[in-house]
Amino acid sequence: MNLSARTSRQICRQLKCPFRQSRRSLETLVQPLTILTDEENLMRETVAKLAKEQIAPYVQKMETEQKIDDNVMKTLFENGLLGVEIPQEYGGSGLSFMTDILIVEEIARVDPSVSVLVDIHNTLINDLIVHMGTTEQKAKYLPRLGQTDVGSFALSESSSGSDAFAMKTTAIKDGGHYLLNGSKMWISNADIANIFLVMANTDLSKGYKGITCFIVEREMEGFSVGKKENKLGMRASGTCTLHFDNVRVPEENIIRGVGEGYKIAAGFLNQGRIGIAAQMTGLAQGCLDATIPYTLERSQFGHRVFDFQSIQHQISHAATLIECSRLLTYNAARLLEAGQPYVKQACMAKYYASEMASHVTKQCIDWMGGIGFTKEYPQEKYYRDCKVGTIYEGTSNIQLNTIAKYIAKEYS
Ligand SMILES: Cc1cc2nc3c(=O)[nH]c(=O)nc-3n(C[C@H](O)[C@H](O)[C@H](O)COP(=O)(O)OP(=O)(O)OC[C@H]3O[C@@H](n4cnc5c(N)ncnc54)[C@H](O)[C@@H]3O)c2cc1C
Repeated sequence: MNLSARTSRQICRQLKCPFRQSRRSLETLVQPLTILTDEENLMRETVAKLAKEQIAPYVQKMETEQKIDDNVMKTLFENGLLGVEIPQEYGGSGLSFMTDILIVEEIARVDPSVSVLVDIHNTLINDLIVHMGTTEQKAKYLPRLGQTDVGSFALSESSSGSDAFAMKTTAIKDGGHYLLNGSKMWISNADIANIFLVMANTDLSKGYKGITCFIVEREMEGFSVGKKENKLGMRASGTCTLHFDNVRVPEENIIRGVGEGYKIAAGFLNQGRIGIAAQMTGLAQGCLDATIPYTLERSQFGHRVFDFQSIQHQISHAATLIECSRLLTYNAARLLEAGQPYVKQACMAKYYASEMASHVTKQCIDWMGGIGFTKEYPQEKYYRDCKVGTIYEGTSNIQLNTIAKYIAKEYS
């Protein structure tokens, strides 16, 4: 749409910028999404280097052992990557949500399993306590979460996944404590975590209004971590069942209040989805980075594979999809930081990024030919790792359901 000179002048007057300088003035007001602050840029570069030097050497070992290596854990804690948004007064790095997202993206380029740990720990556990915890909860748990103890987020159960709030785990009041009983399934980081945010229902007759968020510690009597799932991908990331057998949790470990768990879990999963979008974006970028050099070296019919026009078009298409995914992700993160509505955009970013990663990693294997189908090269791992992107923190269908709700609202 062309704006008439008159309309443009009216807009400029409203914005108090002289007409002739309008373009320049608007440019200073609105930054392109990929322009980062100095702090964000520095963190991104630092983490990219650190991931290459201190995480990459352990990727194969962790994949085989199905465990995050102790040296990698040390690197993450020592560099403040597990306390990104924890305020400095609690021993954290005191950085922004956007920085968190950039860190997840950079780590996922090298090892998506390590990025799940970093993502869940920062965007779900730490953030939830930073924003919802009492002063006592913050003082007790944030220094540990930033420096020594991994966190887990326990919502799903064997019979309640997409319909998460139909959970059966109960929490019954007993004096100044609650007694937790039931089981959780699919809980990431549970193999190594010490601090668990557990959703349990204090009154099943109230349905989702009874759901309450408890801080549970690994040593609490009656609490146990069960078997680790043998998964297609993200094999270094431990995914376990949890069992609660009359676990006595003190009242002061409730976050926000009885019955507030539904709002808390739903709210923080919305922001967690931006983390998964960043993870899938980084994963696809990492796979592409590992593939292009091969297509530039490998020759068939006297030409480099990269030089076949059909391959060039596919590569350009994949690079464009990754860029779209990055923009959706950064936009959702910036909206959240600006205190603007972001849920629809977070769902779109997570949906798009995870579907995109499935497509791009599959294409990368195709461009490698037979060698891409072997474990000699990393493409097959990226291909397996990305599959869970369309499943956890809400399947693709669940993202589409939420997006549709917003669309219906906008048009009614
Ligand atoms: C590796 C891994 C790590 C995980 N980590 C965690 C964690 O740390 N914490 C945690 O709490 N959970 C975690 N989860 C659980 C995850 O969030 C659930 O698996 C996910 O929400 C889907 O639930 P489900 O597996 O029960 O599938 P189901 O809900 O049974 O879904 C099966 C199919 O039905 C479709 N479907 C269901 N409902 C609808 C609907 N209304 N409309 C359209 N389609 C629908 C789904 O899209 C899917 O295709 C993890 C899962 C995995 C695999």
